[in-house]
Amino acid sequence: MSVAEPTEAEASDLADSLCGIVTDYPTDNPRTTLQECADRLAANPGGPGRDGLVVILNATSWYAASGRIGASALLEDMAAALRAALATLDPDACDGGHPHAESADWDPESAVTVGTRLLTEEGRGLYDPDEHDLPLEAWTCPKAVAALAAEAVETLAEGLRTMSGEGVTDGLDERYVGPDGRVDVRLLADTVYERRRNHEASAASGLWAARRIVSDVADTPRDRLGVLLSLGLCVSVWHEGLVAPYLPAMEAAIATVDLAAGEAPCPHGDTPHPWSATPHRERLAAVTALFGPEEPSPEALALWSCPRNLTDLAEQCLTDFRNWRTMRMYD
Ligand SMILES: [Zn+2]
Ligand SMILES: [Zn+2]
Repeated sequence: MSVAEPTEAEASDLADSLCGIVTDYPTDNPRTTLQECADRLAANPGGPGRDGLVVILNATSWYAASGRIGASALLEDMAAALRAALATLDPDACDGGHPHAESADWDPESAVTVGTRLLTEEGRGLYDPDEHDLPLEAWTCPKAVAALAAEAVETLAEGLRTMSGEGVTDGLDERYVGPDGRVDVRLLADTVYERRRNHEASAASGLWAARRIVSDVADTPRDRLGVLLSLGLCVSVWHEGLVAPYLPAMEAAIATVDLAAGEAPCPHGDTPHPWSATPHRERLAAVTALFGPEEPSPEALALWSCPRNLTDLAEQCLTDFRNWRTMRMYD
């Protein structure tokens, strides 16, 4: 990576790409853009581009850590570059007497615009304190820049922990499994499906279901069915996809469904099987009804447990997984 200052045209393109990222509408490959910024900082962590790159990496760290980019290597490179920059910064060199740019206060688009402006001598000369309500020192004071770098390192570390799957399902055994060892399928299905209420809980509970399916836990056949149906519900509501650790765990869980068994004739003949026959919006209710206070009829349970029904579910999940991977081919 060249450590030469970007040209004005390059800086302007970079600002456009970064604005796309921080507004969550990337115009081009976010991974490439962020990798370039990380590499640029790593190549010269104490150089003239340092302050701008720290601002840029801070303002985009939430995006990298959010799971929108499935590549942990990028997060590691961003964090390593920021740590290298931190090592060149002496917070005690702040002489006070000026405000500091803080991520809690800034508008992310302004922040990345300022960040790219700081990358070039011409841009630094064009900085207008009135436009951003902050003097230039607010963005270049070593104490301010060190705080931004440290904050971003923490955000990225948190993202890496999440991507590794560490801690994501902590506490969920207690939440979903009663003292009698039975799974609270209604609560699980409701949590994964009602994603709008709590995205994190939906994904984490889907991961819990996936891990439960491949674990050695001997659930009753009915609970096992409930966990699998919950996983299917989870997959169906994550239209934009999930990345590691969710996707690989979910793929492993769905791989336990015997697709060949679903090809064989079943006692239900031409009766449509409920997973594919139930409209999307009615699926949660259909699943929770099976696990309600009242026992379902043996016929209903047999129909839902039929290998053909489970194959329908598995195949729909496999299609979704393929789409998830296609959407994220940048990774
Ligand atoms: Zn200062
Ligand atoms: Zn059947």
